[in-house]
Amino acid sequence: MAAIESVSGPLDEADLGLTLAHEHLRTSSETIREQFPHLYDPEQELQAAVAEVRRAQEHGVKTIVDPACMDIGRDVHLAQRVVEETGIQLIMCTGIYGVHYTYLPHHFQTRDLDYVADAFVHDLEEGIQGTDVKAAFLKCAVDEPGITNDVERVLRAAARAGKRTGRPIMVHTHPGTRRGLEAMDVFDDEGVDPSKVVVAHTGDTDDLDYIEELLGRGPYIGMDRYGLDIILPTEQRNATVIALAERGYANRMMISQDACAFIDWYPPEMRSMVPNWHFTYVFEQILPALREGGVTDEQITTMMEENPARWLAG
Ligand SMILES: [Zn+2]
Repeated sequence: MAAIESVSGPLDEADLGLTLAHEHLRTSSETIREQFPHLYDPEQELQAAVAEVRRAQEHGVKTIVDPACMDIGRDVHLAQRVVEETGIQLIMCTGIYGVHYTYLPHHFQTRDLDYVADAFVHDLEEGIQGTDVKAAFLKCAVDEPGITNDVERVLRAAARAGKRTGRPIMVHTHPGTRRGLEAMDVFDDEGVDPSKVVVAHTGDTDDLDYIEELLGRGPYIGMDRYGLDIILPTEQRNATVIALAERGYANRMMISQDACAFIDWYPPEMRSMVPNWHFTYVFEQILPALREGGVTDEQITTMMEENPARWLAG
């Protein structure tokens, strides 16, 4: 079995157990943190991350995949401290989110594609941010603005780094504009094996025609924003997962929340707009509702354990 890199060292596919395939310890505006550190309280952020991870562990979670990358505050030292305090198996990535999903900083904008790919390969093979903690997968993003020149550079660099190392790719997408299909076009053009790709946030739509067209291209899909009812209510998310499971797609879906133990994108009081957006909503409300809707325990194990492990192991 292929090794899956984690903060505490390589794991086998069989070690992952119950997995949250998309959650964030911290989502943070990097440039503001760097320039105005007085606006932040790192100790409070650490405690928030530890508390959320422990809550997930109470539901039996063994592994959390944190797709924090450049532009959203990836921090290997925070991750190491959370792992020390909780014992969670934490999986990190490398890649670029894109500022406002549109552009790259000048440094990467003016250099060739393989220079960017080399930076990713460094994190996959040498380690992240000066440590020997290796990234397990690549992250990139295509949102509503679409595949701008810079976004295309990130997707192609991620594809090349993935092909060089055999590591899988997660792409953030905006399904309302069918961006998952556009991302797959770029990956196909670069010769990426589609079974190494997870198209994140596909569960933000209940458009089954779009989702089945996407599944026909061969990737996994993330039904990974449970709790973000302001984008799509839980009932519609559940109905979509139930319909897809009935149609035989349990082996393509991963269920998660894309929740952030800490996020600085808006003032803390706005958090009350998304009361269900946390690390344990899936266990408290979603899995029981899916079972009620006819999803079997075996299908839930496939979505919560086998799919993330199989995707990460490549
Ligand atoms: Zn995310």
